[in-house]
Amino acid sequence: MFKIGCHLSASKGYAHMAKEILSIGGNTFQFFTRNPRGGKAKDIDPKDIEKYKELATAGNIPVILAHAPYTLNPCAKDPGIREFTKNTMADDLSRLEYTPGSLYNFHPGSHVGQGIDEGIRLISEMLNEILTENMTTTVLLETMAGKGSEVGSQFEELRRIIDNVTLSHKLGVCLDTCHVNDAGYDVVNDLDGVLEKFDKFIGLDRLTAIHVNDSKNPFAAHKDRHEKLGEGYIGLDAFERIINHPALKELPFYLETPHEEISGYEKEISILKNLRK
Ligand code: FE
Ligand code: FE
Ligand code: ZN
Repeated sequence: MFKIGCHLSASKGYAHMAKEILSIGGNTFQFFTRNPRGGKAKDIDPKDIEKYKELATAGNIPVILAHAPYTLNPCAKDPGIREFTKNTMADDLSRLEYTPGSLYNFHPGSHVGQGIDEGIRLISEMLNEILTENMTTTVLLETMAGKGSEVGSQFEELRRIIDNVTLSHKLGVCLDTCHVNDAGYDVVNDLDGVLEKFDKFIGLDRLTAIHVNDSKNPFAAHKDRHEKLGEGYIGLDAFERIINHPALKELPFYLETPHEEISGYEKEISILKNLRK
């Protein structure tokens, strides 16, 4: 099954997102758990969840991916920001149990001058405080572009975080094609080589989801600016190889490309479906 979808607005609830993704030809979706700047989350409406589950079953939605607000920083220097991040993520994880078996993606964070070792230590420490044995959600570390002092642009760094987490079987990785290309992993000319490195340092069994984004910047630019598919430095030929690669093809793929209208995603979902073998 080709699991393909895009980022959607959660403002109208889960059932609305399910209807929306099915209406544009997708079968999975990503959404922010709350305002991306990290405000208070909307109360869960049990009726909305019930309706969502009916739609997900009828429409064969295999999984959904919740994205943490991107302003959180698990390895901030300010203990107040770290505390806020931890509480927000813990709250997100408890809410996600309304939809068991979901994925929760977060940016490992920026060490803001404290150094990579301290960044990795703080991220692991926070995960050790919020992961629980009973949770059904898989928590995904996203591969980052390496902008500023971002942690997680190198596979070794993600490996070190995972190694320091006690309940590491609750962790996975979400690979963002724009980010890894920006970070210096050549997904255009050497996809096999990139995946070999991923396997060596992290293990392909950890790879749980893919963000499908073209990049506005050339290889190894360390910028993180997404582009529409085929309009950036990665290009459609590379995406064809990515979505059909034996190590990736069963994973859920999410578009996070810049579009004003949902029809932009509809078009890209149809492009990828046509490239799928
Ligand atoms: Fe992200
Ligand atoms: Fe991403
Ligand atoms: Zn990005």
